[in-house]
Amino acid sequence: MKIKLSTFCYLCLKEDGNTKEAYDNLIKEMGGNEKHLTELNNENLYEFTCPRGHKTYSQLSEEKYVILFDLGSLALLDGYSKEAVSTFSSTFERFIEFCIKVICINRSTSNDSFLKTWKAMIRQSERQIGAFYILQLLEFGETKYMMDENRIAFRNKVIHQGYIPKSSEAIEYGEYILSLIDQILIEFQIKMPESLNKAHFLKIMENGKIIKDNVSLSTSSMPTIIKNRELWRDQSGKINFSKALLSLQENSFYKDFYNKGI
Ligand SMILES: [Zn+2]
Repeated sequence: MKIKLSTFCYLCLKEDGNTKEAYDNLIKEMGGNEKHLTELNNENLYEFTCPRGHKTYSQLSEEKYVILFDLGSLALLDGYSKEAVSTFSSTFERFIEFCIKVICINRSTSNDSFLKTWKAMIRQSERQIGAFYILQLLEFGETKYMMDENRIAFRNKVIHQGYIPKSSEAIEYGEYILSLIDQILIEFQIKMPESLNKAHFLKIMENGKIIKDNVSLSTSSMPTIIKNRELWRDQSGKINFSKALLSLQENSFYKDFYNKGI
């Protein structure tokens, strides 16, 4: 999957005096070539060299689970229901990682301590789910958000037994995952908004530690199905995933941002 990112170079802007005029001139110089195609990657770090030779980096501000849910939805729209279910399942696994991070931050755990412990469970999703259930118990007094047994069985059938789901089954599963994520995020927003923001902030800062100090790193944000989840609610407040899929299919931003191909 390829994505379109901005080619605007902040080092050129700095070189030209960092003024509004310099900004306008640079945009003019770019002459409509404001975006470049690059392959979506796991590191969330995208290198670009501007015409003046500055090497710059950009990243997406979205958490991995947010991107994965979009990818699953795109697969579904293309008719790959099996791949969509598998990607929705990965979405939830990465979301659990994010939730554990948020709760650890809320308990004033340092990021280094979190990473040390996370290393012991990084390859075992069962351990991660177990940790999340116990953390909910400590944080909320009960394990409120558990994955439904039927959905687990469905997911296992698709991933381990080669079951080919109907698109309606994949939509139902996607809607379930999206709704679960929505409910948990609402709970976090009410009970620990600062920790939620801090977890996002830490994620955005991660790449800054990898690249050198004198190299520019810009962060782009994009609308996603999870970010826009308020838009997919029906009158009863329930998330309607089909509504999101329709928007994904027709929204000009998505058509421009995601470019299929290898
Ligand atoms: Zn430049």
